[in-house]
Amino acid sequence: MEFASDNTSGATPEVLAAVVAANAGYAASYGADQWTEAAQEAVRKAFEAPQAAVHLVATGTAANALSAAILCPPWGAIYSHEAAHVEVDECGAPEFYIGGGKLVLTAGTHGKITPEGLAARLARTPQGDVHHIQHGMLSLTNLTEAGTAYRPAEVAALAALALKAGIGVHMDGARFANALAATGATPAEMTWKAGVDVLSFGASKNGAMAVEAVVIFDPAKSWEFELRRKRAGHLFSKSRFLGAQMGAYLQDGGWLAHAAQANRMGQRLANGLAALPGGRLIHPADGNIVFAAFPRALHVRATAAGAHYYLWPFDQTLEGPGEEEVTARFVCSWSTTEADVDRLLEVLAG
Ligand SMILES: *Cc1c(COP(=O)(O)O)cnc(C)c1O
Repeated sequence: MEFASDNTSGATPEVLAAVVAANAGYAASYGADQWTEAAQEAVRKAFEAPQAAVHLVATGTAANALSAAILCPPWGAIYSHEAAHVEVDECGAPEFYIGGGKLVLTAGTHGKITPEGLAARLARTPQGDVHHIQHGMLSLTNLTEAGTAYRPAEVAALAALALKAGIGVHMDGARFANALAATGATPAEMTWKAGVDVLSFGASKNGAMAVEAVVIFDPAKSWEFELRRKRAGHLFSKSRFLGAQMGAYLQDGGWLAHAAQANRMGQRLANGLAALPGGRLIHPADGNIVFAAFPRALHVRATAAGAHYYLWPFDQTLEGPGEEEVTARFVCSWSTTEADVDRLLEVLAG
């Protein structure tokens, strides 16, 4: 009953097998090996972007922060949602790698920035006056931190505002595969065709051990990225193991099948949580993340039975009337089974 995060899951058998296979013999270092090159080619193919630059790193925070560094000047605003990982969960890494920058946050229900909200934010940052921060970049998360998915048309509407403001668009795709599975969009439709310039293409949460690709659709910034990655200590000498993971992740559409499984389990869980006595969903569960409210007594019982998930926000009290509502976040992964979901629902229902 492990629903704390999709990063509590293991790696898929095919990823592990590929790492073991890549271990045989010697290989060129620092990304000049055949596994890294094959992975870069596989990413370009998946995105129908033969010109894109693809660089591997080992964490999503590195992918996001290094992407920010090539998009945003030190005096720039990073427009993002107030719940965004770049704001809440990266210990200031984007600003650190940018060498400045300033997160400028917008609200927006269910984890999504709206065109109105972004336009208002852009308008409130006067340009060309030396006293003010300048427009820097837009960062969108898809799947969002609220578990909802932007459709390509929604991405395009926001990207159009960014383009008008003369800034680049970053997508934090730690759960990119789940967003595709939720919307049916192709990788290209969700990114460069909708105006995304740089994607943090996550794999770790959906079945890799530790690899994410930064996909730079206009390769003009590729060399700068390489310099920044090295300087940040994120260029791996034994890059073949990163390449092997990413190659195996993409092989035969496995990544999309795993995300579809995680999303199906999310849907099953969402239906069950909404049907609990006193249960309701907080956000539409488009993918593998489910936010729900239910009576505290259910939470106390499920936790005692060994269920793992986060109360969200974290600081809710366990003391108090059992019928009072608590709110919680559940995340399913590629390895979540129907039996896992049903067992959790059973202990919650009592
Ligand atoms: C998990 C996650 C990341 C990456 O986090 P790391 O722990 O640095 O790998 C980035 N963005 C979002 C939205 C995430 O959920």
